[in-house]
Amino acid sequence: MTTTAALPVAPPFSIRARMLTPLDDGGVRHEPDALIVVDAAGRISFAGPAAIGPAVELGAAVDLRPWVVLPGMVDLHAHLPQLPNAGLGAGLDLLTWLERYIFPLERGFDEAEAERLAPLAWQAFAASGTTTALVYGAVYEASLDATFRAAEAHGIRAIVGKVMMDRITYDETIDPSTILERSLRETADLIARWHGRDDNRLRYAVTPRFAVSCTADLLRESAALASSTGAYWQTHVSEDRGEIAEVARLFPEARDYVDVYDRAGALGARTVLAHAVHLSDPELARLVETDTRIAHCPASNLFLASGVMPLGRYLEAGLGIGLGSDVAGGPDLSIFTAMRVGAYAKNALEVAGRGAGPALSPLDWLRIGTLGGARALGLGDRIGSVEVGKEADLIAIDPSFVAPVPGTTDDAAEDLMSRLIFRAHPDMVRAAWVRGRGLEGPGARG
Ligand SMILES: [Zn+2]
Repeated sequence: MTTTAALPVAPPFSIRARMLTPLDDGGVRHEPDALIVVDAAGRISFAGPAAIGPAVELGAAVDLRPWVVLPGMVDLHAHLPQLPNAGLGAGLDLLTWLERYIFPLERGFDEAEAERLAPLAWQAFAASGTTTALVYGAVYEASLDATFRAAEAHGIRAIVGKVMMDRITYDETIDPSTILERSLRETADLIARWHGRDDNRLRYAVTPRFAVSCTADLLRESAALASSTGAYWQTHVSEDRGEIAEVARLFPEARDYVDVYDRAGALGARTVLAHAVHLSDPELARLVETDTRIAHCPASNLFLASGVMPLGRYLEAGLGIGLGSDVAGGPDLSIFTAMRVGAYAKNALEVAGRGAGPALSPLDWLRIGTLGGARALGLGDRIGSVEVGKEADLIAIDPSFVAPVPGTTDDAAEDLMSRLIFRAHPDMVRAAWVRGRGLEGPGARG
């Protein structure tokens, strides 16, 4: 068995392993004995059968077999300050859970706490196989700087935003009449400091929490700021019935929940909305029309009893969808968990007679959790698959962690992916790289 001491930590390098990846042009590539060559810039210069690989690189390759190399997972929705509460608060509805479990934790996420927690959190993302994460911080500007500094040092690909709230907030030290101006100014300053850092490895997402905690002014001004700076814009939509009723009460002029964001000028290809569990047909059509992207967070949606997003119906409509852990609404950072719970949830809809759209195989779930997420972020040309020319955002998994009895091997690609989804183990990810640079986190627990 390969030891972690032998793992490459910086480009250039080449590795020999089993390889499984979705492809840009559709379909999946499975190579039982692959050579993957990463050049000095961290790009993939060869990915194919070892037997036809360049001899020099093959000779120098670190042999990871029987490990399997996949593209790194893309998490489209997580709340970094909430990570310590992951798994807590089962049985509560969304708004009660926020008040009881989440706001106290976010209130404590000051600069010092961010300096303590953020490095550990980025390691935890990498340990779960995630190499790109779209993340919410808390409301405090200095804590966001600390969170970005930690991502810069760790090496993960991170898109982060300071939470904006001017209707309900947990920071009582701010005069309510100044919150809007201050939140916009702090966000603009953070964008100037961090958006695009390290050749776009770090990016900024303008992050109003959700319509319940934001005025129409904040939604509109934040969307304008995102479009004028090229930053992303992220928030939550249509997660929970109680929340939807509250939004209807707060925004009586809006046709529906999606219309609240539409009126703010916030829909579009750089916008990622989390959940979208209960969309009406007109809401779904409007999101497709505007090319707005969705973070599907099935583990969170069932943990908080929010509902079951009709994934098949949305895919049929052509909505751009990736997966989100939504920690701490979701109890687990792993995108493999999101795949598993998503598959169960989709089956449950079918059992209940509400199924729609195509059946999804384990390889389809792999695509959604990698290339799907990358495309949702507009990064499909750079990451999301193991293909020549892409940046080497990779993970290596030891499949013995998912074997039901020792010695079980899965020769078919679909069988292997099925085990990785339905028998995912918290320690199965043994290595992770972004642009060929090794990330701390995987393998830390044995
Ligand atoms: Zn969330």
